[in-house]
Amino acid sequence: MSVIKEVLRNIISRPVTLKYPQERKELPERFRGRITIDYDNCIGCGLCARVCPALAITMVNPPGKKDIRSRRPLVHLYKCIFCGQCALVCPRKVISFTHEYELASYDKEGSVVAPPFVKKGNKGGRELSKG
Ligand code: SF4
Ligand code: SF4
Repeated sequence: MSVIKEVLRNIISRPVTLKYPQERKELPERFRGRITIDYDNCIGCGLCARVCPALAITMVNPPGKKDIRSRRPLVHLYKCIFCGQCALVCPRKVISFTHEYELASYDKEGSVVAPPFVKKGNKGGRELSKG
């Protein structure tokens, strides 16, 4: 009897699924999507890279510079678990999360958040010295 009731209830109720991508769910205000970094105000302290449990952040230096202060974080989004630890620990609060969640990419370059000095085509940071 209860099965029949359940079936009837489901026939008259609205579907819980959405016709994605035409329809999209409204995201919570604090949803953690693609990371964004205000590189102009980053001080290169490296705390974000130190606390990242997924080892998703590499500190990279601009070409020709080896000093610790000039290094900046490069985030490998394909490793990131969106835990928010990097944003929490950042002393300058320059790391934040957007609502962008469609992060699939055909190449690695599209899956990194890199400082402006990282050349296009080298966003894996392999040719840059690590801090
Ligand atoms: S959100 Fe978490 S996993 Fe992603 S880069 Fe920050 S600390 Fe690492
Ligand atoms: S913790 Fe903040 S200030 Fe320090 S390197 Fe990371 S982003 Fe820059």
